[in-house]
Amino acid sequence: MELLRKLEILADAAKYDASCASSGTEMRDSRDGKGLGSTSPGMGICHSYAPDGRCISLLKILLTNACNFDCLYCVNRASSNVARARFTVDEVVKLTIDFYRRNYIEGLFLSSGIIRSPDYTMEQVVSVARKLREEHRFRGYIHLKTIPEADEALIAEAGRYADRLSINIETPLEASLTTLAPEKDQRAIRRTMGRLRLKLDETAEAKKTVRRARPPRFAPAGQSTQMIVGADDANDRVILSTSANLYGAYKLKRVYYSAFSPIPDASRALPLQAPPLVREHRLYQADWLMRFYGFDADEIVEENEGMLPLDIDPKLAWALRHRDRFPLDINKASREELLRVPGFGTRTVQRILATRRTTTIRFADLARLNVIRNKVLPFIVLSDHRPQPSLLDGASLRARLRPKPQQLGFGF
Ligand code: SF4
Repeated sequence: MELLRKLEILADAAKYDASCASSGTEMRDSRDGKGLGSTSPGMGICHSYAPDGRCISLLKILLTNACNFDCLYCVNRASSNVARARFTVDEVVKLTIDFYRRNYIEGLFLSSGIIRSPDYTMEQVVSVARKLREEHRFRGYIHLKTIPEADEALIAEAGRYADRLSINIETPLEASLTTLAPEKDQRAIRRTMGRLRLKLDETAEAKKTVRRARPPRFAPAGQSTQMIVGADDANDRVILSTSANLYGAYKLKRVYYSAFSPIPDASRALPLQAPPLVREHRLYQADWLMRFYGFDADEIVEENEGMLPLDIDPKLAWALRHRDRFPLDINKASREELLRVPGFGTRTVQRILATRRTTTIRFADLARLNVIRNKVLPFIVLSDHRPQPSLLDGASLRARLRPKPQQLGFGF
């Protein structure tokens, strides 16, 4: 089969995996002439597309879309009627180097169906990264998908070459994995995540203590995972609490939420329709609230509701449920309190804290602080502004703050 045809099949087969983004790694570049590639922002940019059109600047492919497993939600499952292809290790290396040189990509995201055995598959994936790093001195970004049951030594080797490693948890509930992916074992997935965490912790510790010798490199951009949203009936509360558990237990850099895409010849156990993409978006917003805004998973979604509202963002939804905590005097409130004001991002809060050290913040200062006034005014007190109690308590506040519907473009 021609290389281009393989690329067509294996890039298409990889598009359902959202778990890649070239953030958070160490900075490398090759302007000293001693290597190839770079992880600096803006270098070697090109485009790979997730099914919903998001742009990802990595060469994102599978080594093969043949697979021994039969995960019902996966287009590459053993029983799926799709064209199959397999790259050799050298072909992936060549494509990466060629694409990099043409400035199409800033790195490689490599995953694979499981063929022969988890160890054999992992060996092939690791060989690509080893060749890129050792033979071609490739310094660009490499994200490898880890095969959970593969030997520990192979996973350790993967970490020597990759910037990031990931293992997909796949479904928020263990029971759904048993139904939808009977050959996968969530305990094995978690065991591998645990091992990665230990290696990452050891490396971080060695960096602190070893003064002369450099500790062995291990996945400097950490580990991530992906959860499929909408393939089972787990609600948003369950999804967020699973994420909180993953962040806490394994120090993951990111949990990616991938809205389930109906696939051809799908099993009857799967829903016929994809969940609304905005659900995935709301989960990402909620995820940010947990990681950067000090929210606990179980306060983001109301216990008796289970789902995030789709029409407003989760922070605004929380504030509307807790109106008794507002209005907040932004000249006196703590950082933690300010982070809970709808419309204040982490940078805005930083600016507010810095500004109020030297002056009292007034209404006119909000523009300079880059604040969307309509959104925050019902929730804050300034030296020259106090919202009407009827505004904050009124039933119409939600409708007033809800984003206005927009006419979609016609695409021409
Ligand atoms: S292991 Fe499951 S999810 Fe991964 S490629 Fe095979 S069938 Fe798809």
